[in-house]
Amino acid sequence: MAKVVARPDLSFWESVYFIEIFKGLATTLGHAVRNLARPEGFQTLDYPEEQPRLPRDYRSQHRLMKRPDGESRCVACYMCSTACPARCISIVAEESPDHHIEKRPAKFEIDLLLCVFCGYCVEACPCDAIRMDTGKAVIVGDSRAGFVIDKAKLLDWNPADYPAEDLRSQEAPGGSRNAEARAALKSGTHH
Ligand code: SF4
Ligand code: SF4
Repeated sequence: MAKVVARPDLSFWESVYFIEIFKGLATTLGHAVRNLARPEGFQTLDYPEEQPRLPRDYRSQHRLMKRPDGESRCVACYMCSTACPARCISIVAEESPDHHIEKRPAKFEIDLLLCVFCGYCVEACPCDAIRMDTGKAVIVGDSRAGFVIDKAKLLDWNPADYPAEDLRSQEAPGGSRNAEARAALKSGTHH
């Protein structure tokens, strides 16, 4: 529902604006002088040697989640590429050798120069196969092609870099729950 915001009644001096502008400048100058007098209080980083600590839910470069056998969890359903407003996900499906799964991606590419990091692909995925929690927020390259991440790059991550409570990531090869998840996969009870 629309909210009506009342217009404040300005006094004569407020409506002239100059005094308000100088009051604003005085506030800025006050902060600058205070920071210069106490430089240890500056919120700065020795970038790029020191990288910013991002929150875990920060939307950064994508990764494809892995099954316990290392295969991608993606079933090539095209939900993410359909939801993507930038049309930057390119998938080619092929038949999966696993008889429990119909399809898998033969090709899965994301053009990061087109991506707007909206996270719709993650929201749209019905099987938690794509995430944007790598923490890689600074992406550099010397050609346009360098910004297209393929399936191999999307699957190139280590469970040790993710928290122990992220059980899905720990099911991947090398993760703390891999043996247990592999046994479940073998018995057909893994989802
Ligand atoms: S984050 Fe948004 S723009 Fe980027 S690939 Fe996902 S859906 Fe597309
Ligand atoms: S929505 Fe998920 S399962 Fe479907 S193609 Fe995208 S990543 Fe794969």
